[in-house]
Amino acid sequence: QPAFDVEAVRRDFPILSQQVNGKPLVYLDNGASAQKAIAVLDAMDRYYRELHSNVHRGAHTLADRATTAFENARETVRGFLNAESTREIIWTRGTTEAINLVANGLAGRLQPGDEILVSHMEHHANIVPWQMIAERTGAKVVPIQVTLEGELDLDSFNSLLNERTRIFAITHVSNVLGTVNPIASLIEQAKAKGVLTLVDGAQAVPHYQPDVQALGCDFYVFSAHKLFGPTGIGVLYGKAPLLEEMPPYQGGGEMIERVSFERTTWNTLPYKFEAGTPAIAEAIGLGAAIDYLGRLDRHGMEVAENALLERANQLVETVPGMEIIGTAKQKVPVMSFKIAGLHPSDVGTLLDQQGIAIRTGHHCAMPLMDFYGVPGTARASFAFYNTLDEVEQLFAALQKIQRLFA
Ligand code: PMP
Repeated sequence: QPAFDVEAVRRDFPILSQQVNGKPLVYLDNGASAQKAIAVLDAMDRYYRELHSNVHRGAHTLADRATTAFENARETVRGFLNAESTREIIWTRGTTEAINLVANGLAGRLQPGDEILVSHMEHHANIVPWQMIAERTGAKVVPIQVTLEGELDLDSFNSLLNERTRIFAITHVSNVLGTVNPIASLIEQAKAKGVLTLVDGAQAVPHYQPDVQALGCDFYVFSAHKLFGPTGIGVLYGKAPLLEEMPPYQGGGEMIERVSFERTTWNTLPYKFEAGTPAIAEAIGLGAAIDYLGRLDRHGMEVAENALLERANQLVETVPGMEIIGTAKQKVPVMSFKIAGLHPSDVGTLLDQQGIAIRTGHHCAMPLMDFYGVPGTARASFAFYNTLDEVEQLFAALQKIQRLFA
């Protein structure tokens, strides 16, 4: 088996070969949003040049072609997740909208005293929608504790999963810590207690291909833009019987079967949850991103990504006062850190001057920042197109910054 050829892959991402602030761009902000391969850009461009028309309004040839391309993308997503049916694949604007949709759809099941179990390492997108529903229904949002290493505290999980728990919503991978949660066993335990499960896969899908049937989760959500696809679109996978039972999230065109002023009935799945003209080019772009990934050596990618993280971990000691936040045993290549005597936002600015893009701040995970007692962190998040040389460049830059400014 040939080794994963990162230089060949980088040629598929033209944005990477540019200079920023007079230096070659080193893009290490993939956790915020990943770059797009030419195959994705071409698919969207071709759609607008040759196919564009509204979908599901099939009175003419272009509308048919657009609908076919759009629905083929849904089938591609179904295959990626190994869902049973395309009826279970709902287009949303992203992870955030998908979680809001589910939270609203399940509100009818919640009563005062019921509990929604989340974790202390959730992104705000997997906290706030539940808080809003809790407010409406009298339910309560309960966080599972995290250990100092940044792993889920399983004792805390075991004691908090109880007869009041109705919904368990957990991130597959932490956007701050890189921790990979043992979701298969967590889901199994939650299901044994009759609890509904939602997995926030936003940070997982760029690194792993989840199998929703094997996992057995009720809902799995992600955003296209972190999976090397376009912004403005994401996916809600949900088990068909639950989606059938949930009320629509928004009303309008497309989501209805028949409308009259006396009585309106809903369209079948998945269209019941897709009011209005959808993001057609974006769906096609996501399909192209998944097809592109499918042509790469997934195993080789994983090995290469692990090598990036390992090299980064080895180099930490070369920067005096540098500390990693999140040292879980199972991690994707995401590195949150602080450097004694430096504010994270200054680290970000100084790295940017050297062409290195990272993210700083609270990463939409304020409860986790509070837990670690920091206002924010600096975070380097790697993708399969990053190189060991870029890891070296990051650390050379950090050494310089530490020497001059700490
Ligand atoms: N969950 C996690 C774990 C994330 O990392 C993000 C994006 N930072 C989101 C949810 C929200 O995704 P989006 O903004 O694309 O809806």
